[in-house]
Amino acid sequence: MSGSGEGSLSASFRRLIAATGPISLAHYMAEANARYYGSRDPFGTAGDFITAPEISQMFGELVGLWLADMWHRAGQPQPVHYVELGPGRGTLARDALRAMARAGLTPQVHLVEGSAALREIQRQAVPQAQWHHDLSTLPTDGPILLAANEFLDALPVRQLVKAPSGWRERMVAVDEEGAFVCVAGSAQMDPALPEDRREAEEGTLIETCPAASAVVQEVARRLAAQGGAALFIDYGHAHFRTGSTLQAVRAHRKVDPFADPGEADLTAHVDFATLAPLAQAHGAQWLGTTGQGPWLTALGIEARAAALTRAAPHLAGEIEAARHRLVAEEEMGDLFKVMGLAAQGWPQGAGF
Ligand code: SAH
Repeated sequence: MSGSGEGSLSASFRRLIAATGPISLAHYMAEANARYYGSRDPFGTAGDFITAPEISQMFGELVGLWLADMWHRAGQPQPVHYVELGPGRGTLARDALRAMARAGLTPQVHLVEGSAALREIQRQAVPQAQWHHDLSTLPTDGPILLAANEFLDALPVRQLVKAPSGWRERMVAVDEEGAFVCVAGSAQMDPALPEDRREAEEGTLIETCPAASAVVQEVARRLAAQGGAALFIDYGHAHFRTGSTLQAVRAHRKVDPFADPGEADLTAHVDFATLAPLAQAHGAQWLGTTGQGPWLTALGIEARAAALTRAAPHLAGEIEAARHRLVAEEEMGDLFKVMGLAAQGWPQGAGF
């Protein structure tokens, strides 16, 4: 469906804003992504963007082996649950579960997915899975081995801007031409920021993601209560920074996030600097946050690429191109980070 018709999200946002005033950026992003993911399969060369598991099976296999290694060294507890947040096409789950099975681990499978369209595609890849709308219904009877690749970046961000009168939330309004524009909200937002971040020059913008914090808190709480380990993999920064990182991608190009809500993928950098201490505060062990490139290399992606090449010599060029794309510093290797968490008493993770 195109973005401008009566039933479009643009039209319903315009009606809502006309009736009740500007909406928060977080509200805008949440609804835009719910519409976007709910109505299509955005992945692959023919879609809007491509993710690490879609680049090569090596990615999911190494994630699976990392989780299996943790489970082995923790004494092979049973029952055990593989949990994936935002599984996309189910490719990572399929590859990780295959690698786990070879390592002697056959967990129950739980996929947290909001999109009905993507659940159908995931069902083809991982028929044995159970689906959940959010983390609240996940089982509590055993450790969880959790993976989330490019999940947190799709969750709605809040942006706060320093105005002369204090911190204001960035809101979305409609201008005279009917275009979506950002305006400063009228509510005083100082309490939404930690005290040590409130002093700032006028115009400073701070982005936070309350939804990502809530997810990491819940995972940390479950690790503490149930045991297990978790990997959050996403593009983002390991140190605090200011400025907007909101972006929209459609057909592999960056587009204006306000041009056609619901028709492009909206994401923001994940603030790993905030998430690691938050996980610790909720009882989890933080194993580290490192670049995807060094992490995959430490886990043996070169040996895996060599083995795949021996099995299919005619694909040597493709396998090497995929490995390079996943690990090279100027590709995904540095921008993408891997954050490892585990229950107290569980082993240190490989690669951190
Ligand atoms: N992990 C996959 C897909 C990443 S895209 C990959 O690497 O290819 C983001 C995924 O998160 C999609 O499956 C999307 O439908 C899901 N998602 C986004 N927001 C969500 C939410 N609030 N609740 C549940 N799933 C969500």
